[in-house]
Amino acid sequence: MSHPTDPNAPLALIVDDDPTFRALSRMSLEQDDLRVDEAVSGQAAIDFATTRMPDIIVLDVQMPGMDGFTACQRIRQLPGGDFVPILVMTGLEDVDSIARAYEVGATDFIVKPCHGLILNQRVRYMLRASDTLTALRGSESRLAQAQRIAQLGGWEWDPGHDRMEVSDAVCHILGITPSSFTHTQSAYLTCVHEEDRHLVANAMREAFADGVALDLDHRIRHPDGTLRFVHFQGEVLIDDAGQFQRMLGTVQDVTDQRASEAKIYFLSNYDSVTHLPNRNLFLHRLTQAIAGGLGTTVNGVVFVLNLDRYCRISDVQGTRNGDQLLKDVATRLQHTLTTGSHSSLPGSHESTVLARISEDQFAVLLPGLPTPGDSARVAQSVLASFQAPFQLSATSMALTANIGLTIPGADGTDATMLLRNAGIALQAAAEKGRNTYQYYSDSMNAAMDFRMCLEQDLRTALTYDQFLLYYQPKVDVLTEEIVGAEALIRWQHPSRGLISPAEFISVAEEEDLIIPLSEWVLRKAAQQQKAWRNRGIPPFPISINLSSLHFKQRNLAYQIKAIVLEHGGDPRYLELELTEGVLMRDAAATVGTLNQLKESGFRLAIDDFGTGYSSLAYLQKFPIDTLKIDRTFLKELRLGKTDSPIVRAIIGMGQALKLHLLAEGVETQDQLMFLRMHGCHTYQGYLCSKPAPPDQFLQLIQHRLRRPPAKSA
Ligand code: C2E
Ligand code: CA
Ligand code: CA
Repeated sequence: MSHPTDPNAPLALIVDDDPTFRALSRMSLEQDDLRVDEAVSGQAAIDFATTRMPDIIVLDVQMPGMDGFTACQRIRQLPGGDFVPILVMTGLEDVDSIARAYEVGATDFIVKPCHGLILNQRVRYMLRASDTLTALRGSESRLAQAQRIAQLGGWEWDPGHDRMEVSDAVCHILGITPSSFTHTQSAYLTCVHEEDRHLVANAMREAFADGVALDLDHRIRHPDGTLRFVHFQGEVLIDDAGQFQRMLGTVQDVTDQRASEAKIYFLSNYDSVTHLPNRNLFLHRLTQAIAGGLGTTVNGVVFVLNLDRYCRISDVQGTRNGDQLLKDVATRLQHTLTTGSHSSLPGSHESTVLARISEDQFAVLLPGLPTPGDSARVAQSVLASFQAPFQLSATSMALTANIGLTIPGADGTDATMLLRNAGIALQAAAEKGRNTYQYYSDSMNAAMDFRMCLEQDLRTALTYDQFLLYYQPKVDVLTEEIVGAEALIRWQHPSRGLISPAEFISVAEEEDLIIPLSEWVLRKAAQQQKAWRNRGIPPFPISINLSSLHFKQRNLAYQIKAIVLEHGGDPRYLELELTEGVLMRDAAATVGTLNQLKESGFRLAIDDFGTGYSSLAYLQKFPIDTLKIDRTFLKELRLGKTDSPIVRAIIGMGQALKLHLLAEGVETQDQLMFLRMHGCHTYQGYLCSKPAPPDQFLQLIQHRLRRPPAKSA
């Protein structure tokens, strides 16, 4: 007898109470290079397998004491016993025994007595099958392990029968126990975050209907409220008939991955000290804004602010103090940008971008400015915000800064170029001194210098009485008689000559000078009324432009009536011109003020009609006398066109509402003919006269003023 010495050879256990059979079997199997051990009873087999599980068991069913069936069943329950191949030996033709053998977990059976060759063959075959199974189990468990590590689970959905099966790993991801999963799609959807549920259900339905792959991210809400992010993928299985049958897919928990992605995104796009966008993100936002019309349809400014001496301060005070200083600067900048006058503009909050673009530089993108020139105001208020010292631990520290500004569109249409230009402007500002700002373009700098001078000069202009009031006649369209006038202000600047109100009214509004200016106009017009009355000229209506800021004054009607009366004017022959925007701002309060003005005797006109929020509804609500059709509509008629549907429509509407109609900017006879044909009442324009100083205006009206005095303007 040659005993195989290879300790790695498979070990077979022969269990039989018959010593002859055991000996014969041992001989056969050892010839086939197996190691063999023997057990004389069922219990002995169990004892053997408990200490050491063989690679295969050959088990006789008929034994005294415990029979083979019981032994087989018990071995299966031992650790490692569920997969060991067990070959059961039954009596000849014993069908019941064969059936029972399988019931108790036998792998195969063989009829006893049997030839050694057949036994060998059967054992070999079973060992091979067992190896394959072991390998498969190994790869399955490796797969399961890989899936566990990847937090990946599988699912299968059969929409036809509303069945959805999920692996234990999926349940784990969903935060539920496998037994609580009810095997339907809605059981899965219940675990999906409520805001994503619809999305997931739709995506599954559509993917199945179209036979396409499914690939989306959604959120999971665990029963304890924890949020997880999963990647949900699936494919449609097609049966032999080409029909969509089921969907198979995976769920992967990607929460940690997303969190690290978010962290990477933050680190590459934000400054870790101030948590503001960094240079990278600033350029990105600027590019987006340019694509959205910045520099073409939207006015805006880009500016770069440099903190003087920041690097030295941070050296001396240490990094922690330096960082704190940056945070305080960021907070102060943010505050200035969100509370300044520009911040009341629609949408300015969301679209303003403040970034830290380098060690000691911040950048700002401010879109939605009414004019590029308004950026100077923002730069000024930012610099002004640095006047208060910063607090660093126990010391307070004065900081200065410079600003370089560049105008998207005029100074470039590329984000990088704009930022570079702002940097160049910044250098120029630094050369000028501390706490200054500079534009990139010379013309802008010149315009801003001019504006700065205007602001300063405007304050003294009132004191030195440098304003003039001009008058432009209002003419009856049919008779061409003069029926009234509009008073228009002019500034006689000592060095710059006559300056148009278009240039200084907005500055006056911003500098809080508009109310004294308006009062000057009222005074002057009232005095003029009195002067002309004293010269025997019959009274005629004079129009005065009221700024929207002035209109907001409390007790407006009382105050202006007092001024007019004090200077000898007559409110009944004064018409106040308001723009549509003024009327619409706070309609309820406006009606009240307008009624008081009417009660004080003033007439009311809507100026520049058609350029604002024209609506019939408010025209009816307000006690308006006159509509002034904006001159842009009249321009159409000059450029070779003989018809203007807009002008016709406004005239029609005004007539229906029984309003007096005046067309502005009439320069040609053709325009006048058109107005005459369509029933406009009066006009104003160069065709009759430009706005003129009082003495020139007097000459005009001496020939053409309607007598007796008109009842309406
Ligand atoms: P507005 O109230 O629309 O005044 C009419 C403007 O059109 C005046 O410009 C006038 O000179 C100009 N104009 C008149 N006829 C013609 C014409 O045939 N062709 C052309 N192209 N233009 C014509 P001005 O005097 O430069 O005033 C500009 C704006 O300044 C005024 O527009 C008004 O909004 C404002 N303004 C003028 N005076 C005052 C004032 O005393 N107070 C206030 N708050 N605003 C004023
Ligand atoms: Ca006007
Ligand atoms: Ca006007």
